[in-house]
Amino acid sequence: VDELTEWVEGNWSEALTVGEWWDRLGTAGWAAPMLPVGAYGRGLSQAEALVVRHTLAATGTIGAPVGLGLLLAAPTIAAHGTDEQVERYVPDIVTGRASWCQLFSEPGAGSDLAGLSTRAARDGDEWVVQGQKVWTSGGQYADLGMLLARTNPDVPKHKGITWFALPMHQDGVDVRPLREMTGATRFSEVFFTDARVADDARIGAANDGWRVANTTLAVERAGMGAGGNQQLRGGPVAVPGTVAGHLDRPVRDFLAAPETRSPSTEGRTTPARFHVDLAKAKGRSQDPRVRQRLAQLHVLGELCRLNAERLRAVRAGGGDVPGMANLSKLVMADSLRLGRDLGLELLGARGTLHAYDDEGRAGLAAAAPGRGAEEATSLALFAQALPIFGGTDQIQRNILAERVLGLPKEPGDLSGVPFSQLPRS
Ligand SMILES: Cc1cc2nc3c(=O)[nH]c(=O)nc-3n(C[C@H](O)[C@H](O)[C@H](O)COP(=O)(O)OP(=O)(O)OC[C@H]3O[C@@H](n4cnc5c(N)ncnc54)[C@H](O)[C@@H]3O)c2cc1C
Repeated sequence: VDELTEWVEGNWSEALTVGEWWDRLGTAGWAAPMLPVGAYGRGLSQAEALVVRHTLAATGTIGAPVGLGLLLAAPTIAAHGTDEQVERYVPDIVTGRASWCQLFSEPGAGSDLAGLSTRAARDGDEWVVQGQKVWTSGGQYADLGMLLARTNPDVPKHKGITWFALPMHQDGVDVRPLREMTGATRFSEVFFTDARVADDARIGAANDGWRVANTTLAVERAGMGAGGNQQLRGGPVAVPGTVAGHLDRPVRDFLAAPETRSPSTEGRTTPARFHVDLAKAKGRSQDPRVRQRLAQLHVLGELCRLNAERLRAVRAGGGDVPGMANLSKLVMADSLRLGRDLGLELLGARGTLHAYDDEGRAGLAAAAPGRGAEEATSLALFAQALPIFGGTDQIQRNILAERVLGLPKEPGDLSGVPFSQLPRS
């Protein structure tokens, strides 16, 4: 903490641009401190990295260039890339110069990710990619994509996949943003028509991409279990990469107001406080059924926090709690669903209305005012996301059953059948 605080004192200035600040933060190893020392990190544990994140938040600076590049691509490339690939990709990630997306899921391959059918065929020093991805978070802002493609259909599905660092800005890549029911466009569908990726952008050996992808997925799940993906502070957030256009803007534009700086919110995923206030505002706080559910919401929130703390403490000692990340995600999903249902119940008929822009909000406030209504309907609409991404609830339970409890796999194991001979509907 002392070393970082001293470093911030010597390097932070509100006169900097976002790009200049991230350049200093990233090259000093503070943006992604969990990366190895030789790969722009400091070799810190997850617990220590969280301390770094909190310390940075407490100093009133803007945080690291968080995105899928920092969270997923950098650790994967650090683990499986050559030294030259680490030099080529990781500096731009830790300094926010490049933004990444994760091109894994497809219309026919989500839970069964190894069943993906986007193809990459070798053409000299390059690979030519055809196919489609979907659910690509931040696809519209991405400079590079972590692409999983099938490079050999004649071997079992897990054995014919390759992991590539695909340049997104090329004619063969068509990114079409999708509008969610929340009103936001957080993800896109991405089409590849003769898209090209150089062979030297292949991370790991050809057809060994499943092993590489498992590192990406493990980092993703570990972050979820430890509460690592939560935003610490309010205020506008700077987005890395060349597309968002934030790098040349002054850091001042992205500073949170002092009252929204709250490092102590870490780990608190349950908005029980919000629901208690909503129940009071609606005159329902003495209703025994409502009180029961408020208590459940509080308990789930505490479970999330304690699970994260337990995992962090065990990991700080070099250990692990098998299945804890999966369990934590399941508890968070329950908590979000309960928050959604309780919020909507408290709102009554007002809960069926949601505004998507300022004009709509003004109209709604005039026609059907309701304190906390907009936050409750926003929470309700977003509650569906976490139980799906990073592996659905059912998949988390399958993992717990098979890998932690040692229960037998589902019948009809096709893992030895070549991909090209798999039955299809
Ligand atoms: C907000 C959000 C962001 C996302 N961002 C990305 C991203 O950036 N990049 C990316 O690649 N993907 C992303 N995803 C995709 C996500 O990983 C997939 O949606 C998820 O893996 C589920 O796949 P699917 O949607 O194809 O559902 P399916 O796999 O078709 O599942 C449909 C239903 O069947 C159930 N099911 C499937 N298989 C089994 C089984 N064996 N046992 C029991 N039940 C089963 C599932 O639980 C689910 O209820 C994102 C998803 C969301 C919601």
